[in-house]
Order: sequence, then structure tokens, then C-alpha cells
Amino acid sequence: MALLHPAAGARGTVVRGVRGDGGSGAAHEALPPAGPAARGLGALAGLRAGDRRRLRLPLPERPHAEGRDPLRRPVPALRKPAPAGRDPGGAARAGREPRLPRGPLGVGRRRGGAARRSGASVGLREKGCALEITVVGSGTAVPRLERRQSCVVVEAGGETLVFDLGSGAVRGMLRAGLDPFSVDRIFFTHFHPDHTVDVVPLMFAIKYGAETQRARPLALYGPDPFEEFFGKISGVWGEWMLGYYPTEVLGLAHTSPSPVELPGARIFWAPAAHRPESIAYRVEGEGGAFVYTGDTEYAASVVELARGAHTLLIECSFPDDSPVAGHLTPSGAARIASEAGVGRVVLTHVYPPADALDLEAEIGRGFSGEVLVAEDGLKLHV
Ligand SMILES: [Zn+2]
Ligand SMILES: [Zn+2]
Repeated sequence: MALLHPAAGARGTVVRGVRGDGGSGAAHEALPPAGPAARGLGALAGLRAGDRRRLRLPLPERPHAEGRDPLRRPVPALRKPAPAGRDPGGAARAGREPRLPRGPLGVGRRRGGAARRSGASVGLREKGCALEITVVGSGTAVPRLERRQSCVVVEAGGETLVFDLGSGAVRGMLRAGLDPFSVDRIFFTHFHPDHTVDVVPLMFAIKYGAETQRARPLALYGPDPFEEFFGKISGVWGEWMLGYYPTEVLGLAHTSPSPVELPGARIFWAPAAHRPESIAYRVEGEGGAFVYTGDTEYAASVVELARGAHTLLIECSFPDDSPVAGHLTPSGAARIASEAGVGRVVLTHVYPPADALDLEAEIGRGFSGEVLVAEDGLKLHV
């Protein structure tokens, strides 16, 4: 059976391979002999299109003949199709990889007086909502059982969008009833490990852990110099990460004169005050906007990005009496939320000293809208 390699086609050639016989396959493969690192990502860096640079990665050398790969195992849990009516993206995904059935609703829980000011939609699936948001990881560099590192999943228009991939994110998706193989696009806020490292196990899983070989594209977006950053990761792990599906790596300029237009969502971004490359994201859907700050301290650019948003997922790392540069405290998070006029604030990226506080009450001193403290698995609807 012939297998097209569309990524190679984007570079001017269509490579045909042979799969399934485990013997003659390798001999028929005309794959490049080296991964992207050896080829040099910089040589392709001139493909700038407006404010985003598109880079099609070359295909890696196939490490094992098809059918003999000792790492490829069936994943029985993923054989079950999602029950009808419980997977809004299901119809759009017909013919794609199977999705995990949704976990029980009501994963998100209000803590203490959270969401005390309005009828929060937490834990209740609402009909017609355009953005289905799951806080997969609400933690930090501090290892904790309760909080995985940063990761947020937004389901919109039949696509699964991931924002940041800190340690534990892939398993956290499973815990939250999300299928890691369903990811269509990954957006990074900055390059710190607690926001990026699980891109390796995720792409490794897609390549070796899926029941069926992925064919549809995967797009990765990050702030400049994202291609350089991803190229370094690929230089170490690329042979095990890069699969036989189109993989796009798109560097984002620090401001977004034009959004990324997606089915059911438009993605804007703006600089955040944390690392030189840091950006925050705004996802606009039919029902309003969702903004995720990533790591930041107070910044007017984040206020502008969050202007009028339905839900603001904002970092709140440390207490007001022990602030750390590049991060927010409750008063800073409240200031951004108040100045931006958002409807709902959800606090994430919470270090243990801040977790010991009554954060809802602290935010309530400077912000009059709905307040939630994220827990891993929290579901939100916009
Ligand atoms: Zn950071
Ligand atoms: Zn962080």
C-alpha cells in the first residue's frame, strides 16, 4: 500500500513509501537521510509570510520497518468512539483518529467562595457554547500532586487547540477526558520548561503510541524565535518526535496585526512581561473571548489583549507580600482584570505560598466580577 508523505510534498516532492510488509518497506523509502537539525532549520527561515513564518519540517528517517516497531502498541482505551452527543467535535472529526469518551462532567469544582458572584458554568456543559476550555495544568516549577505544569486545551470549531505543554500535560489530558491524539494545534507562550517540555512526549506518543498512523497536520506556534527553539528540541529528540504527517512550525511576531483564523476561533496575541519572547493569547469564539496570559507581571499590553473578554485565565504566582519579578500577585491579577473589564477571572500558575491564601477574597478586593481558582481538570465554557 502506498503512503503519501504530504510534508515532503510541500517542499516540492511527494515521497511514496511502502508500509505493512515490514521487510521491503525500508528499501522503497526515499526519505531524507537526516532529521531537521542536521539540515539546519535556519536555511528555511526565510519563508516569512506576514507576521508568521511557516516552516515545513522535512521527514525524518524511519527508524523501524513498519510493523516491527517495538514501540508501537495498540491503545485499547482509544478504540472506543466518543458517545454521540457528548463530543461536540465528533462530527467534524469523522474519519480522524478516535477520541476518548468524555469524562464525567463536573470535573471543575469551585473552591471555597469561588464563583460566588454569579452562576458559573463550571462543570456544566452548555449547549451552543463556542469554546470548550479545560485547564489541564495549573501548576508551576514546584512539583506537586495537585497541580500539573501549565497546559490549557481549547476545543473550538471541531479542532483541539493546546496552549502550553508543561510537565504532566499529556497525562493530564487523559485525566481530564481529552484525547492527546486529537490535538490539531499547539501554541506556546514562552520557552520555560514548565510550559514546553511535554511537547516531546506528546509528539512521541503521536508517532509511536497511536493505534493508527496520523495523517492530518500538526501545527506548532510560538513567539519568535520559536523556530530556533523548536529546532534545538528537534536536534535532540526529532528522530523520535517528527512523524510522517505534515508538521508546521510557525514563529509569531510579538504583536498580531492579523489573527490566526481557525474554524470557530480567531487567535490574537500580544507581548507579556516575563521573558523577552513571552506572549499572551486571546481566542475569540462565537460566545466571546478567552484570554490566557501565560506567565507575566502587570503589562498594559496584556490589559489591552484582555479588553472585554468573557474569561481571563491569568497567572497568580505569589502573594502580595512576597512578589517575584515577571509574575503576578493577587493585586496585580485583579488590576489587569479590572482594567480590562473582563467578566470572569480564573487564576492559574499558583505557587504554594499563593495557594495558601484565600485567593478569591484577595482578588475580590480589586475586581468585582466572577473569580475562580483553577484546579487541574477545570472545565470552562465561553
Ligand atoms: Zn515562565
Ligand atoms: Zn511558568
